[in-house]
Amino acid sequence: MNLEQIDDLVIRYNEPLAKYTAARLGGPADILVIAKSHEALILAARTARDHQIPWLVLGGGTNVLISDRGFRGLVIINQVKEASIDEESGDVAADAGVNLSTLARRCMAKGLKGLEWCVSVPGTVGGAVVNNAGAHGSDMASTLSEICVLDLMNPDFLQYWFVDKLKYDYRSSILKGNHGRYLVLEAVMRLEPGHDPEELKAIAEEFVAHRKQTQPPGASLGSIFKNPPGDYAGRLIDVAGLKGHRVGGVQVSPLHGNFFLNDDSGTATQYSQLIDTIQQTVRSKMDVDLEIEIERLGEGFSE
Ligand SMILES: Cc1cc2nc3c(=O)[nH]c(=O)nc-3n(C[C@H](O)[C@H](O)[C@H](O)COP(=O)(O)OP(=O)(O)OC[C@H]3O[C@@H](n4cnc5c(N)ncnc54)[C@H](O)[C@@H]3O)c2cc1C
Repeated sequence: MNLEQIDDLVIRYNEPLAKYTAARLGGPADILVIAKSHEALILAARTARDHQIPWLVLGGGTNVLISDRGFRGLVIINQVKEASIDEESGDVAADAGVNLSTLARRCMAKGLKGLEWCVSVPGTVGGAVVNNAGAHGSDMASTLSEICVLDLMNPDFLQYWFVDKLKYDYRSSILKGNHGRYLVLEAVMRLEPGHDPEELKAIAEEFVAHRKQTQPPGASLGSIFKNPPGDYAGRLIDVAGLKGHRVGGVQVSPLHGNFFLNDDSGTATQYSQLIDTIQQTVRSKMDVDLEIEIERLGEGFSE
């Protein structure tokens, strides 16, 4: 099969990835497809595998730094966005391409409690499942019950995994970094029914207000580093005197040390250099190894 034969698939060649990532950085993908149905997603991934083309899937591109040279292979953008929400039981089944914060707001409006933490976490359900996204003391692990996933090692059938199979830890899962193998199609979450939507909204709005005060607007990837045990990466970066530090068009936010902002003249190489500089400086000044939370992908990046 060729990609051109697949329905619900938009195909672009030599397509710059900057417009598909929150940092607004990234060179071209040899081929980029936008999938609008599960069938299109599955067939695109299977076609890449059959032709031995490296591939990866992106949701909102809010946790990936793509190199300036881009990606040699196929990038699949997941835009499959149906969700069913059962107000009585609290069961929610969402396609991986559903926007996480939109889903949270829909659930809150139906009195379902459990996703208030993610009203201002950008990206899709799929990316959140892979990263075990979390905020304000909660995370995906606390409500996810199972996922539907295609494993390209066994590509003839879909698998349903209970959450324990994901081996969730702080911003990690067994799916993370396994590009060209797993395609998450759907997530099933169990929320608490019967709450007052206005109360849930009030909790969420407090989280949003806190973010507005503490996190900068602009082109960023959110937190670049994981918080080390018992501390905060942003605090360490601040104490190391690195807030506001700049490499070309990329700067450590003067407001939040764990956010790097691209002023639209930056490059992925500069972004990556800033990551390395911060890691080296924090290591030498404070003897702490900062582990990156985002992924560096594409030609020229080793991770
Ligand atoms: C301003 C800002 C604030 C943020 N705040 C938070 C926060 O509070 N908490 C937090 O946890 N994160 C935060 N993030 C990071 C980011 O929003 C989350 O990690 C988000 O869940 C990523 O979703 P995404 O769809 O953008 O994933 P992407 O960046 O598109 O992808 C991330 C990874 O998931 C994989 N992936 C995506 N979809 C699929 C799929 N369907 N199947 C298989 N693999 C898939 C990708 O290949 C990649 O490896 C923030 C980011 C920004 C820019």
